[in-house]
This record gives sequence, structure tokens and C-alpha cells, in this order.
Amino acid sequence: MKRLFCLLLAVLMIFPFSAAASAASHTKSPSFGAYKHVFIIGVDGAGRFIKDADTPNFDRIFKNGAVKYTARTEVPTDSGPNWGSILTGVSYFKHKIHNGNSGERQRTSDTKYPTVFTYVRRAQPDAELASFVNWNNVNFGMIETDIGVTEVRVGDDAALTDEICAYFDEGNAPAVFFVQLDGVDAAGHAHGSASDEYFAAIHTADGYVGRIYDAVDRNGLMEDGLFIVVADHGHKKTGGHGRFSRRETDTTIAVAGKTVVPGGTLDKTTRDRDVAAITLAALGVERPKTMSARVPANLFENTTGEMRSFFRDMLDGIISPVMWLVTLVWPG
Ligand SMILES: [Zn+2]
Repeated sequence: MKRLFCLLLAVLMIFPFSAAASAASHTKSPSFGAYKHVFIIGVDGAGRFIKDADTPNFDRIFKNGAVKYTARTEVPTDSGPNWGSILTGVSYFKHKIHNGNSGERQRTSDTKYPTVFTYVRRAQPDAELASFVNWNNVNFGMIETDIGVTEVRVGDDAALTDEICAYFDEGNAPAVFFVQLDGVDAAGHAHGSASDEYFAAIHTADGYVGRIYDAVDRNGLMEDGLFIVVADHGHKKTGGHGRFSRRETDTTIAVAGKTVVPGGTLDKTTRDRDVAAITLAALGVERPKTMSARVPANLFENTTGEMRSFFRDMLDGIISPVMWLVTLVWPG
């Protein structure tokens, strides 16, 4: 216990200084604005377990990509807080989106912590932006209603994938495209993250990811496209999530694109929210001052990673190291 306390104290003392020192060392990436399209494919509930599943499509898509299986989630490890952070680039303390309020509330672009859709809309007034989801809370309670995002909700992953493929084959070329698949989360709840059923569901989702990638690619969009697969949280061994175990808080971020480091691992402090910063950087949209997401190291070629600003979100800066220590001992 005493050792844990000393470690925590050390983390807390070093953290602000490393963040302050970083401001000077940041260099702008040659990947900044190198892309016209970012595809964010969300696999709800898959956590780190894509690593251990049979995923031939994931493997071929990210053969020359950068993959991290231990990116850290927000806590609570639920979909609202984490899709919220992945889309807004800020902590749960800031965006305050949870499973309950995302089912009832409609956000508009004047909100303090908008999603990447709003930032890209401001920079590219005529761009096509789209979100295709199984869990309607993403479209209903997270994406701003006044910025003209094409929103589709289909409550079945296979049928949702059909709609997505048709959308691309009709010639749509979105700047930002978000997908949320839900089948893996359902299997996790029913059977737990050590079950054959859960890994079978990841294999099934991998088939959908492959179909989506092929639709994007055959329509020429991967030439200037960045393709990301991300999960919002994992599952306990016995099923369910929301707490602090490694099984729940480790999650996958995989990135493929023309300037991505082949075999890149993304750095140790990568958070799921960093997908928002990666998205904006790829499209050449300046990262807003309110955003504590940043582009990790070992992701884009010839690019040093950005440090996470402690001062933009001090509560998160203090709580996150504590939570990280808790994840090391919390049973899952
Ligand atoms: Zn769930």
C-alpha cells in the first residue's frame, strides 16, 4: 500500500512538469492535413480482446498500420462516457455525456465541448459528414443536431453494414464517417469476455469491418483516407462493464493510412479520446484549446507525439493516474 502511495505521489509530481515542458517541443506533423477522409469504426465492447480473436480482416487492414490494444478508456467504462470522449476529445469530467442523458438530450454546436463533427463542419462548410450507428444514443445525444450530419440508425449490425456499403457505392465521400457496431457488446453482456461466444462475436464484427473497408477502398477513398478501428471499453470475465479492471479499461485503437508508421504502437499514455485529435490532425483542422486529446507518438511518420496538457483538464490530470493505479489491482 505504501509503495502504491509513493508511486502515485511520483506520478502526480512529474505529470504537470512533463506536460509544461512539452509545449515547447511540439512540432507540427507532416501528416497534418494529409487526408481528406477519416473513417472511425467503433466496435462497442471489444476492449483489448480483438488481439486474441480470429480477425482476418482487421489483420489485413492494419498489416502496415499502427495498433494499440492497451489504450486507456474513460471511467466509468460505459459507452456514453467513452463514445463521448472519442468524439469530443475531452474527458468525461468535461463532456458529461453518459448512457442516461445521451438518450434524452439533443446537443447543438454551441455546446462547450462539441464533437469533431462540429470542428470539421466549421473548417469545411460543404463537407459530407456521416454517422451510422446501431446504438442510437450516439446520433441522438452526442452529435450536434445543427451541423448537417447524415445520421442513420439500424438496430442490427449486418443490416447496418449493408446500409454503409450502399452509402459508399452511391458515391458519398464523407470527411468524417463514424460507425458504431453493437453485437460484440451484447455477447459480452450475455457471456463475458472469456467466452467462445464473445470471441465469435468479435470475429463476426471483423467481417463487417472488412466489408466497410472494402466499400471505402473500392470507391477510391483510401487514397486519401485514414481508417480507424476503436473500442469504447471491454468486458469483465463474467460479462458487463462500468468499473475499473484492466479487462474493462484496456481498449483497442488501430489506424491505417498512407502516412501511418507500419507496425506503429502508439505511445504508452494513449487514451481512447485521442481518436478525436488524430481525426482533426489528419484533416488539417487545428486542435481546439479546450481539447485534452492529442496525437500519440509512434503513429504518424516523422512525427513526435504531442504531450497531453495537464492544465487543460486538471481534474482529469489528477484522477487519471489514480485510476490507472486502481486498474492494476481491481478484479475483473
Ligand atoms: Zn454494454
